[in-house]
Amino acid sequence: MGGGIAGLSAGYTLARARRQGAPIEVTLLEGRDRLGGVITTERVEGFVIEGGPDSFLAEKPEAAALCRELGLGDQLLGSNDRGRRTYILHHGRLARLPDGLLLLVPTRLWPMVSTPLLPFRSKLAAAAECFASPPRAEAATPEDESVASFVQRHFGEAMVENIVEPLLAGVYGGDCRQLSIRSVLPRFWEMERRYGSLTRATLRAQRERMKAAEEARQFGEATRHQRLPLFMTLKNGLDQIVLMLAERLDGAAVRLGVRVSSLDFPATAGGAYQIHWEDGSTQQAEAVVLAMPAHECARLLLPVHPRLAKRLGEIPYSSAMTVALAYGEGAREMLPRGFGFLVPRKEKRRLLACTFVHGKFDHRVPEGKALLRCFLGGAADPEVLKLSDQEATTLVREELQAILSFELEPLFHRIHRWPSSMAQYTVGHAERLQAIETELQELPGLCLAGNAYSGIGISDCVRTGRAAAERALEAVRKQRPDSSAHTGLL
Ligand SMILES: Cc1cc2nc3c(=O)[nH]c(=O)nc-3n(C[C@H](O)[C@H](O)[C@H](O)COP(=O)(O)OP(=O)(O)OC[C@H]3O[C@@H](n4cnc5c(N)ncnc54)[C@H](O)[C@@H]3O)c2cc1C
Repeated sequence: MGGGIAGLSAGYTLARARRQGAPIEVTLLEGRDRLGGVITTERVEGFVIEGGPDSFLAEKPEAAALCRELGLGDQLLGSNDRGRRTYILHHGRLARLPDGLLLLVPTRLWPMVSTPLLPFRSKLAAAAECFASPPRAEAATPEDESVASFVQRHFGEAMVENIVEPLLAGVYGGDCRQLSIRSVLPRFWEMERRYGSLTRATLRAQRERMKAAEEARQFGEATRHQRLPLFMTLKNGLDQIVLMLAERLDGAAVRLGVRVSSLDFPATAGGAYQIHWEDGSTQQAEAVVLAMPAHECARLLLPVHPRLAKRLGEIPYSSAMTVALAYGEGAREMLPRGFGFLVPRKEKRRLLACTFVHGKFDHRVPEGKALLRCFLGGAADPEVLKLSDQEATTLVREELQAILSFELEPLFHRIHRWPSSMAQYTVGHAERLQAIETELQELPGLCLAGNAYSGIGISDCVRTGRAAAERALEAVRKQRPDSSAHTGLL
């Protein structure tokens, strides 16, 4: 249930098992009249405009691997990292994010020393951080804490306010004072436990990667250690992956445009789930993959499993709005070079971030023209979704004028609203997941997938979708021991 990237990945995995002989019937149910969830691409006058996500992180391999498996390998493109330059609004002016800053850890000296984004005492704190030692077992660091408090302990408050807060608002639509370090940035949480200093741990990991790449080069291998671009995408738009997945659902039934309204659990062990649609029709299933937002799963499950519903309902979501503005020739020259900018909350603007698409993925914009993708909403500003298209474009243009002194008339605009679409892994998320896992033990054949659990990016959703499909197959296999013995496939 749910035809976003998680549900499609699950459906694709199940449809493939069916093609290979597994004796199952597969149905994909999507409430909207199109597949893809928040992934949607528009092509207008030579511009490729993403309404939701525009790319995936290259270091997480699942999305690129799925693209290759679907025959889209030759469409995969990396971000234009030579031109990578990100700015942060600071006292009303754009300042460059220091080079060598790996998310929240500084790894190069001079850009840190020279950045106007941090006061002198933060630079001293960053230097002292190199000497932090691992926490002693008896004085263990907290099990979980907010990203803000974690960063504050390592690098001071200015690093939180000026850099980490806008980065997380831009990427997760989230509030770093609520988000969990353990669930949002587990790598850094682990680093602290092992090494104490994040800077030392990051430099060490970099050295190991370079050594591995050097060894691979000596043996003439092209390996995963070769430098990856930061982001990857599909040349003609991310909806290509949606279209390809939909094509590969052959043999599966796809039902669009009717929302699932409720779900009844099997009355007896080995019985079937009853799915009810809003139009009154029903269907039975031995296993169900719920690949819709956790708040929607909670709504469906409330009458039949209130404890699980409560846990799922505790995962908060934020809303997002993207406003894409396309410009004709001459606009590029009036804009800073690079990937775009982020806006900290203290600057008191509604714009969270703006991507210069012509800088990040230049093949998506006709030669010489410019495309700006502006982000609004997030945990701090859910009300923005109520703005009309006219109000939203006026707001964005006024802020662009104030920040960039950029007041050209766009050729056209496109607006996309995504209410309650971005799961927020707030402090305690790991325990919440544990409790959900425990409740799920009582419901064999009910599997969860999507951005609410172990990663919000596209690759994470592909991973959870495919894993949920495998669990569903396994549940059916257990219910039908004879057929699995017969086919060897389930
Ligand atoms: C604006 C924006 C920008 C982003 N940028 C990036 C990015 O650049 N890179 C990246 O990796 N990630 C990005 N993300 C995150 C990522 O895109 C999402 O986390 C991911 O696509 C979510 O996929 P999903 O399948 O879990 O959920 P969704 O895409 O939300 O799909 C869930 C589906 O369930 C359906 N549904 C809900 N209720 C019902 C019901 N009752 N009955 C039937 N169907 C139902 C919905 O209609 C929807 O189609 C971005 C997200 C947003 C919103």
